[in-house]
Amino acid sequence: MEFELTEHQRAVRADAREFARERVAPRAHELDRAGEHPTDILAAAGDRGYAGLMVDEAYGGQGEGLVELALVTEELSAALMPVAGALALHLGVAEAVERLGTEAQRERFLPGMAAFDTVGALGLSEDHAGSDKTGIETTARREGDEWVLDGHKRWVTNLRHADEVLTYARTGDAKGDGAGITAFLVPADEYEVDTVWETLGARTVKSPRATLSGVRVADDRQVGTVGAGLAERGRLRTGVNVPARGVGIARATLDATVRQTSDREQRGSGRRIADYQGVRWQVAEMAERVDVARLLVLRAAAQGDRGADTTREFAMAKTYATEAAVENANDALQLHGGIGYTTARDVERHLRDARLLTIAGGPNEGHRDTLADAVYDAHPR
Ligand SMILES: Cc1cc2nc3c(=O)[nH]c(=O)nc-3n(C[C@H](O)[C@H](O)[C@H](O)COP(=O)(O)OP(=O)(O)OC[C@H]3O[C@@H](n4cnc5c(N)ncnc54)[C@H](O)[C@@H]3O)c2cc1C
Repeated sequence: MEFELTEHQRAVRADAREFARERVAPRAHELDRAGEHPTDILAAAGDRGYAGLMVDEAYGGQGEGLVELALVTEELSAALMPVAGALALHLGVAEAVERLGTEAQRERFLPGMAAFDTVGALGLSEDHAGSDKTGIETTARREGDEWVLDGHKRWVTNLRHADEVLTYARTGDAKGDGAGITAFLVPADEYEVDTVWETLGARTVKSPRATLSGVRVADDRQVGTVGAGLAERGRLRTGVNVPARGVGIARATLDATVRQTSDREQRGSGRRIADYQGVRWQVAEMAERVDVARLLVLRAAAQGDRGADTTREFAMAKTYATEAAVENANDALQLHGGIGYTTARDVERHLRDARLLTIAGGPNEGHRDTLADAVYDAHPR
């Protein structure tokens, strides 16, 4: 059994770490305070090849796997989580085109996506289809060789800066079992934004609600099998992105805490905060969470790269790593004392950003159901 990254993987991680430290981290505070989109950072990430990280080299991508995605995502998220989120969602759209699309669609869309000239976003959730996507109400009806879409999508992350939205719409009867739903690539400017929420965290990349009214798309924008969109989506390799973002935040808040508790001295007693055993044990536990979360994410990623079933592994990585991010950010804030509660330090931003991760990508309760089912299925009764 190998626990080491390959030389190539270490180089990918080093590159992402340098990019995150030099290009992302110095801007994170200001962008978050202003709620400003990290447009130039994402463009620079595209120039660095991250927008085509997992896209096949034949279409202009880097041809990397899930392990590399996990490594890059951790680094970016440690600096500014929504940057990692926007990129990962874009890569998820590219993944759907590459795995489920036709050769003509791959040739048409992937080179632009790999270069980040074409930015992808995901239009899956709706007002009444969040954790349970079988409730999707947006419809697509066939007219000649076109499809006509009507309805809405909620939480389309990065919509205003996107070009193509992978949009899930009902093309068959409502069955409640996920059948009858089909994926389409809809130009982002066909969406009309009606609500942009103020959010606790992830403030730099907005996730608005938007409507589709009689939007016509040609047949060649329908992706995958008609009526099997949700089932096919379940087979895409998108699961690593949210937990890897959790590892990034868990690590960043651990690092900040080690620094703060080592530097902060109580003048009266001459003791550093890091001299208290209770603090040291808490920091040790934070480090343990980072390692366990990262190992779970990399195990799931490596298993996905081998083409093995990852149902159990991704569910475990998602629940553990996202909760590790919340717990570490919360502990970090406590151990920073009053200054941690201010915007003078990054830990309050990390806590706000971390809070999204147990909800986005499907709430952890659903992933626990999946995990529990896998555990019971694996044990003969
Ligand atoms: C900032 C942000 C960005 C997002 N980006 C995107 C995006 O780009 N594209 C996209 O399509 N979607 C996106 N989402 C949507 C996200 O995936 C959904 O919010 C999530 O799946 C939960 O759906 P819901 O909000 O409707 O919660 P609900 O379905 O109303 O669930 C509410 C709560 O009920 C509990 N619950 C739900 N199901 C179960 C269960 N089976 N067992 C026990 N408890 C349960 C959980 O605590 C859950 O949080 C985003 C959401 C946010 C907030």
